[in-house]
Amino acid sequence: MTADQLRSTCFVAGLVLFGLLEWLEPRAPLSEPRRVRWTANLGLAALNAIVLRLQIGAIFFAWVIWVERQGIGLFGWLTWPGWVEVLLTVVLLDYSFYLFHQWLMHRWPFGWRFHKVHHTDLNLDVTTASRFHLGELIISMLYTAIVVAIIGAPLAGVVAYEAAKLAAAQFNHSRLRLPRRFERVLGWVVVTPAIHWLHHSWEPQELNSNYSNIFSLWDRIFRTFRGEADESKLVLGLKGHREGNRLRLPDIFAIPFR
Ligand SMILES: [Zn+2]
Ligand SMILES: [Zn+2]
Repeated sequence: MTADQLRSTCFVAGLVLFGLLEWLEPRAPLSEPRRVRWTANLGLAALNAIVLRLQIGAIFFAWVIWVERQGIGLFGWLTWPGWVEVLLTVVLLDYSFYLFHQWLMHRWPFGWRFHKVHHTDLNLDVTTASRFHLGELIISMLYTAIVVAIIGAPLAGVVAYEAAKLAAAQFNHSRLRLPRRFERVLGWVVVTPAIHWLHHSWEPQELNSNYSNIFSLWDRIFRTFRGEADESKLVLGLKGHREGNRLRLPDIFAIPFR
């Protein structure tokens, strides 16, 4: 199976699994019809797959393979058993994502133009994990390419990370309601929906917190953790982008250029 096939398989499996679970056990009622949001979110997913996975993605993976063959970066001169390198790659890339999300997507005005699109969703579910502007994914891929070279990440580690990143995002955006206590305990290790939903709040202090994707530890270490969302008080989305009928696919694609 190629990296692309693996990614598509994980994407569909996660979509079906979390889609079914959140439908059976929803965390909060929907305030907007699914149609507009799903067209926007899955439309972006399709566009990104066509442009990114099929074109630029090949260059990215060629780069990862080249880095591994050259033996550059951290793992180039510090050699560990293969499985340790794979595990460390997942952890280090998740940490690099935390920095990317906070500094390049929220604090850098140019990055925020693109990342805004992700935050305009007025409800959250498994499809929000695909609501990313092409511009954000291109910046993200360039950034990850640099990080991969610094780490000297093995291809297997990068592929494992990509799969884990996607599964984590599908889980922490989903509407799935978990038993409160279980979710609280789980939240000490990984980012749960209660943690990531708070990041989608329209309140600036909450929006600028909880940046982690897979492991919740980064927010806790660097003091950007603001706890879990209380769905009964939470308002999702962005101030100034609250009209559902103005958040159709062409509208949200144009947001960065306005
Ligand atoms: Zn964000
Ligand atoms: Zn999100």
